[in-house]
Amino acid sequence: MRLRNITGSREAIAESPYVVQEALQPECPGTWSKMFGNENPIHIEIGMGKGKFIHTMAREHPGINYVGIEKYSSVLLRALQKMEKEELPNLKFLRMDAEDIVKVFGPGEVDRIYLNFSDPWPKDRHAKRRLPSRQFLERYGQILKQDGQLEFKTDNRELFDFAVEELEPAGWTAQVITYDLHHDEDLMQGNVMTEYEEKFSALGNPIYKYVISAGNQARSKRAFDFT
Ligand code: SAM
Repeated sequence: MRLRNITGSREAIAESPYVVQEALQPECPGTWSKMFGNENPIHIEIGMGKGKFIHTMAREHPGINYVGIEKYSSVLLRALQKMEKEELPNLKFLRMDAEDIVKVFGPGEVDRIYLNFSDPWPKDRHAKRRLPSRQFLERYGQILKQDGQLEFKTDNRELFDFAVEELEPAGWTAQVITYDLHHDEDLMQGNVMTEYEEKFSALGNPIYKYVISAGNQARSKRAFDFT
């Protein structure tokens, strides 16, 4: 999703109290509980778009701290506008490329990661830019807690098949895989629809979802990198 450049969006983000401005400073990792002022679990959405999912999640789960991450200012601005209408103390935002995620969160600082309707990057040579790629899984493994989980939803079958194939080589284990989320009564409990999910399920597209946890490889890599 890339909205046309909205004049002043960068400035609005730079001044917003809802955006963590100093996130890429070396002292940021390990300080999220302090920033939120409590020890509640931290859940992040990477590539959140206009923020409907994470804003709803934060409202419904006040005992969890949420961080919404988006690369483009013009898109993030929409999420900030939602916060201006309904301020939530357990929701913060970052404007950044997820490639830098390990510079922002410390080892094991995050309890859950959401990827929703990530950009497909269909060309083979761009595979490592896909957010569920093994290169990104390796980064996620560094910031997730030992028993942390990652949830991924999409209506793009090629991207989903790719994401499932990436799990084993990256050392992750699938806990749940569905090829028709919206017809699974159990998995639909508590499901919060994203903007893209509303749009594509209304067209009749099935929604694919997995829930995975970091396996031994990711853990030993983490131990190797940070101990
Ligand atoms: N998650 C939302 C939803 O389901 O409605 C938006 C989906 S949209 C297709 C993907 C979003 O991910 C876009 O807003 C895009 O700018 C963002 N994005 C893609 N790659 C990213 C990256 N490397 N870091 C941060 N955001 C990224």
